[in-house]
Amino acid sequence: MGLEIIENISHKYGANPSYVLAGGGNTSYKNDENLYIKGSGTQLATITADGFVKMSREKLARIWKNTYSKEQSKREAEVLADMMGAKCEGEENKRPSVETLLHDLFTQTYVLHVHPTKVNGLTCSLGGKDIMEEMFPEAIWIEETEPGYTLAKKCRERINEYEEKTGKKANLLFLQNHGVFFAANSEEEMDSLVSYVMGKFDEKITTLPSLNELTYDESKVLSIIDAIKAVSDDGAFVKFTLNGEIARLAESSQNFEILMRPMSPDHIVYCKALPLFVENAEDITTNITDFEKTNGYKAKIIFVKGVGMFAVGINEKNANVVSDVWLDAVKISVYANSFGGLRPMAPDMVDFIANWEVESYRSKVALK
Ligand SMILES: [Zn+2]
Repeated sequence: MGLEIIENISHKYGANPSYVLAGGGNTSYKNDENLYIKGSGTQLATITADGFVKMSREKLARIWKNTYSKEQSKREAEVLADMMGAKCEGEENKRPSVETLLHDLFTQTYVLHVHPTKVNGLTCSLGGKDIMEEMFPEAIWIEETEPGYTLAKKCRERINEYEEKTGKKANLLFLQNHGVFFAANSEEEMDSLVSYVMGKFDEKITTLPSLNELTYDESKVLSIIDAIKAVSDDGAFVKFTLNGEIARLAESSQNFEILMRPMSPDHIVYCKALPLFVENAEDITTNITDFEKTNGYKAKIIFVKGVGMFAVGINEKNANVVSDVWLDAVKISVYANSFGGLRPMAPDMVDFIANWEVESYRSKVALK
């Protein structure tokens, strides 16, 4: 049955960190009447049938006929209310993924949306669109757009255009600085589409990040961890990481510069918009408090020159997530070299995500 198949697809890709980090990504199954979309707060790797929200496709389709406010935040709230209203009876306590509208645009039975690191090497690169067209002439490219209704509307227009022009059903869509959508009518078709796409990435990516762990001065690292904890909230956990790539970035603020802007919404949601680079370990306390005064939040990622990376979380689990998500940004910055160089998020988009209620909901849920 369809729901079992989408559970399998979700488990397979959700359990693989090359596809899914920190509960990101979502999947759906549809028939003529209903869309079953992953609920917010569930994890693809472990999702069960009741983790999907059953929606009325007829009510979702009505959203495209409605007129909404011109003012963005008002409009997004109105659309969200209509999306909540499209839930079927018995689903009242669930929250459908913010990407629900996008899933419903594809005619195929199964949709998988993920943010694979290698794919984001392309979507976060300067050559992104052109190189995608060479690699996947059948795919659709969507330039960086505010998520929610605005993004769904743009995707809807592009998918319609594509289908009119080619007479084919769109099944592969790349979102700049975000991720990818795969659509298929069976699990086999999904697997072969994903492995075809990922195989092309493996061929195209010529520079790999050096992730070999390096040895370090333990007492120095411990004293820095203590200094960070002393100015952090109670219960905070600090995770230290040092590998070839981190060492190269920590060598100088010039090397680190490339990571001073986030690559995708995930990086902002879990690690905040900006990391902190500390030139002198002795100044760490002042640097941390100044950073908080300037930015209005505590740094989640702290690089100390010549030492390595410190990820700060509200607990150990959260510190691991922060560290994994930031390592994802580091890998993306290396993969992007195979696609003409890194293209971080646009500053106005960074502000939009940082203030977006939906994303703050996602990060809160991920802490559970
Ligand atoms: Zn996404």
